[in-house]
Amino acid sequence: MTKAMSTWAVPVIRYSAGVVEWMKAELHSIDQKTRKHKTVHKALHPRANTDRLYITRKEEGRGLLSTEDCVNIESRALGQYLKISEDKGLRSAWEEGLIKVDEDPEIYRDRRTKNRTEEWHNKPIHRQYMRQTKELASDETWQWLQMQRGEPKKETEGMLTVAQDQALRTRYVQGTIDGNNILPICRKCNMKDETTNHIASECPALAQNQYKKRHDSVTKAFQWSLCKKHQ
Ligand SMILES: [Zn+2]
Repeated sequence: MTKAMSTWAVPVIRYSAGVVEWMKAELHSIDQKTRKHKTVHKALHPRANTDRLYITRKEEGRGLLSTEDCVNIESRALGQYLKISEDKGLRSAWEEGLIKVDEDPEIYRDRRTKNRTEEWHNKPIHRQYMRQTKELASDETWQWLQMQRGEPKKETEGMLTVAQDQALRTRYVQGTIDGNNILPICRKCNMKDETTNHIASECPALAQNQYKKRHDSVTKAFQWSLCKKHQ
């Protein structure tokens, strides 16, 4: 879906960059509407980290190109093209200030990525999972986001990323962070705090069925690849 959006939807705007004078607020509003649509279609949790959505999949993000970035990159590229052009007409367009920013589009892109990553990393709760798994994680940890090993549904990807960002409204989050009058205890086992980690791996009420099912699916995948490997 992300690829389709970048291929079919974003170019509609891309060709207007540098020619149409877009207001920052207009571009923001297009990006906002896009996120809203994603949320309506369950591809983006309403509490999900916005910056992560726009970080590349290689860098643990979800790889969507924002309209604002697209227009800014494209108009910078057009500006640099006019600036060094040997054609008189094109050069005079640069001299007359058709494009007001003089910046290498790659430098702009790197700066945006850096800012977004910093924003995401600076959120103590959103970044918790990344910090906890830093020692264990490798490039392969993030392959599932890059469609090299299976391709999760948009709903699954949205749910997994928001769970990693600890942004699901579990009872613990509702009771302690949102300040609602709710007991933070797990509604399944009534024993421990209902955190994302508890639900994912330590709830005794889920162990016998849900965790077992998950364990079996993983071993099935192992068995399948071993069978393939050894024919
Ligand atoms: Zn529990």
